Amino acid sequence: MKKKIKKIQIFRFAVQIIFFILLPGLFTLTFSELKNIYDMITKGNFNFLSSYQSLIEVIVIIPLTIVLGRFFCGWMCAFGTFNDVLHMISKNIFKINIKVDEKVDNALKYLKYVVLAAIIVISWIMGSTILKATSPWDAFAQLTSFPNITVPLTIGLFVLLLITVGAFFIERFFCRYLCPLGAVFSIVSKVSIFKINKPKKDCGKCRLCTNNCSMGLDLYKKNNVHGGDCINCFKCVETCPRKNVTPEMANEELNPAFASSVALASFVAFYGGSNVLASALGTSNVNSTAIVSTANNNNTAPSTNSSQNSNSGQNASSSSSANNSNATSTQNGNSAASSTATASQYKDGTYTGTADGFRPGLTVQVTIKGGKIADIQITQINDTPRFYQNAVNTVPQEIISAQSTNVDTVSGATYSSTGIINAVQAALDSAKA
Ligand code: SF4
Ligand code: SF4
Repeated sequence: MKKKIKKIQIFRFAVQIIFFILLPGLFTLTFSELKNIYDMITKGNFNFLSSYQSLIEVIVIIPLTIVLGRFFCGWMCAFGTFNDVLHMISKNIFKINIKVDEKVDNALKYLKYVVLAAIIVISWIMGSTILKATSPWDAFAQLTSFPNITVPLTIGLFVLLLITVGAFFIERFFCRYLCPLGAVFSIVSKVSIFKINKPKKDCGKCRLCTNNCSMGLDLYKKNNVHGGDCINCFKCVETCPRKNVTPEMANEELNPAFASSVALASFVAFYGGSNVLASALGTSNVNSTAIVSTANNNNTAPSTNSSQNSNSGQNASSSSSANNSNATSTQNGNSAASSTATASQYKDGTYTGTADGFRPGLTVQVTIKGGKIADIQITQINDTPRFYQNAVNTVPQEIISAQSTNVDTVSGATYSSTGIINAVQAALDSAKA
């Protein structure tokens, strides 16, 4: 039989590749932002307006999923694309096409809720930073830095390897069974205005839709699919020889190309608008630049043990003490201090310190005047801007205010925060009188 060209699948794959190239960090950012919101709420310091700039992906993607369903998973998520590409290779080149037993598959799908619950409980009890080295998303997002990521993300890399092997044998392995973000989406999409109709009475006995469903849904038993595990990939729609499977939005039957175009246009408009708004808010904040100089001109140091989150317009939230971090190595012969130092014990001058942020080579210049820390300049940072921005905006100012490196890291930018703290400490070690 002549194989039918599935236009929507070609369109979807093209969109997935574009998102993979242009916005590969969407899933990482969305999940870390959800964790940040959770951290801030549990610590009682959540402020939507001041946090807006660091929560754009959540602000866009969660409402999009609530209203339109899981288009993000089917069309935009780089990790979903990674799973799809692995499945394509295994199916088309190695002719592997394993179908998991329906009952086993249904039971395993609850695992992602267990993963989500475990993350919530562990973050609640031990703090979210305890999980940072285990994130396969972070390992995936930083793969281009290999082999520099092997030390900070060894566990994450191992989990990524497991996921890769799983996705090779089972379509959307990670999305079906393990993704905690997918678990969140699965719950919130239940109220969406989008669904897939498939009246059983008009079905034949082929079960083609069921056999081709990316997420292994038992479609032959259903009259429609409304959110949950459906990722709006439209494979079922294109596969049905009777054209019995149709997308429906707000009770209107739609062409799948139109439905996906509406979802994509909504995302682009909403995401673009949110970034423009964030930029406008950013320009009203005085001290946000990538490389900062943070001067304390009058050298009036407050008492040493304070850690303040008082930078105007910044979205920092304290999550853990820097001394709890495992990112302590430094370069250029500097050794990161295991204990913090206080002021008035330094020789005047400018000193350089280097440490590892998420990536190696984070370098600072610390100026000492009158025995006090007067200025901190970050002269080099190789981390991803979205991750280091909050740390750069916040941590140097806090060190100067406290005249001590005993300050908190910034939630969502722990590696960069720790790198700055350790680099400053290394510089202060050279400045000791
Ligand atoms: S389930 Fe998770 S990994 Fe899969 S597409 Fe959705 S967000 Fe991405
Ligand atoms: S039900 Fe259809 S649209 Fe939903 S995941 Fe399965 S094949 Fe894709």
